[in-house]
Amino acid sequence: MKTILVTGGTGLVGSAIKTVVETTEKRDDEQWVFIGSKDCDLENLEKTRKLFESVKPTHVIHLAAMVGGLFHNLAHNLKFFRKNMAINDNVLALCHEFDVVKCVSCLSTCIFPDKTTYPIDETMVHLGPPHDSNFGYSYAKRMIDVLNKGYAQEHGRKYTSAVPCNVFGPHDNYNLQSGHVLPALIHKAFVAKRDDTPLQVFGSGKPLRQFIYSLDLARLFIRVVREYEDVEPIILSVGESDEVSIRDAVSAVVKAIEFTGDVEYDTSKADGQFKKTASNEKLLKLFPDFKFTPFEQAIQESVQWFVENYETARK
Ligand code: NDP
Repeated sequence: MKTILVTGGTGLVGSAIKTVVETTEKRDDEQWVFIGSKDCDLENLEKTRKLFESVKPTHVIHLAAMVGGLFHNLAHNLKFFRKNMAINDNVLALCHEFDVVKCVSCLSTCIFPDKTTYPIDETMVHLGPPHDSNFGYSYAKRMIDVLNKGYAQEHGRKYTSAVPCNVFGPHDNYNLQSGHVLPALIHKAFVAKRDDTPLQVFGSGKPLRQFIYSLDLARLFIRVVREYEDVEPIILSVGESDEVSIRDAVSAVVKAIEFTGDVEYDTSKADGQFKKTASNEKLLKLFPDFKFTPFEQAIQESVQWFVENYETARK
């Protein structure tokens, strides 16, 4: 019997994995344990050790992190760095101590070098400084890859990392200050429709992004923990041709929420990186049969989830 511990199990990605393993991907030889910060503060080594003692995982999907959108990152780089460094070091040290067979940790396409060639691929994680806006988060994430290589070299461990592009879906953080662009947009559009006010979008709307639906990412994470055997990272993203502008994303949200008022772009606000186009070639070679949910359908489902869960959603 495999025991798969999912840290960050209460968040956007963790709750999507929970939905998928409890429905379409259920297996009798796997027991899944999902934990959030209330179950264990992973910044604390002793508490993390107690968690591993009680769960006794054979496999770990490590998602827990301090996560936030552009504006939250800009204001708190030091905090993002220190918290995430502590969490990652503790989790990987205890995976080794408790003889965990495989650990898949989570990087992000936004931690890649700022000045680079496109598309970005898995070999480029350390080839130049990240964008200034989120250097704290980025360097802490990059150190996961350093730890993975160290545990492989010194102890023969198979600890690896997955690199998602921007994620969205049910259970996202819809907070207008700390949320990522899509959930913040969905929340803003909801309020603009309710109050009959214009929808104000931060920035020019021109930057390009790849967005993956959390339930698609969940299916990919499950396949990676079951089948991927390499220490090198693997990008989990929609293809390069599925990249959309923020303006396109706004249109999809406006359509899904049926907002008919004016949309205004506040160009005095930062745009962040113009693009960070990632290649999903390695992923498609490994899982050539994988089908992504169409963007508009996924936005529709996410908007519906937010409207139906407005009272209790994280905001
Ligand atoms: P969420 O903010 O939705 O969830 C974060 C999770 O981490 C929550 O379960 C939270 O627990 C947990 N957590 C935070 N701090 C601690 C702590 N000190 N101890 C224990 N648990 C903690 O994040 P996402 O689901 O969006 O992100 C999951 C992973 O994916 C992260 O590693 C993130 O960097 C990565 N990622 C996310 C992207 C995105 O667009 N969202 C893009 C690319 C990568 P609780 O809620 O109970 O407090």
